Amino acid sequence: MRDDCIFCKIIDGRIPSASIYEDEDFRVILDISPAAKGHALILPKEHYANLYELPEDLAAKAMLLAKKLAAHMTEKLQCDGFNLVQNNGEVAGQTVFHFHLHLIPRYKDGDNRDLLTWKQLSYGDGEAQALAELLRYPKA
Ligand code: AMP
Ligand code: ZN
Repeated sequence: MRDDCIFCKIIDGRIPSASIYEDEDFRVILDISPAAKGHALILPKEHYANLYELPEDLAAKAMLLAKKLAAHMTEKLQCDGFNLVQNNGEVAGQTVFHFHLHLIPRYKDGDNRDLLTWKQLSYGDGEAQALAELLRYPKA
């Protein structure tokens, strides 16, 4: 637990939150400034600043929980689609430095169709191939 971390304070009850799920590893709360109705955050109970720090077993559990909650929330909210968003580092839009996975319901009739669209770039000749070589990851 970090005294300077707002999500640690939420997890230990020092700051109130609207909680929708809790188990031994995670708490899931509604985002206080939602991008869409029902926008929620999966928070590990232990403090890890970001995905780089998060242990592999918790990363796997977080994704499994996201899958289950996506189905549950879609049924309850009758939303039409769903985004998982996870920011790491200030440059990537992270504002709270305690790992969290955003669960964002999407609605056909919503006013936020462009919520996660970005300007598309393109690669020059051979650039994608060179990048793929740089990034190729050996099979475990
Ligand atoms: P990120 O930009 O990925 O770091 O997301 C941080 C999220 O935390 C934002 O969507 C905020 O609205 C949300 N947030 C910040 N403070 C609280 C809080 N006290 N309760 C619930 N959500 C919060
Ligand atoms: Zn924390």
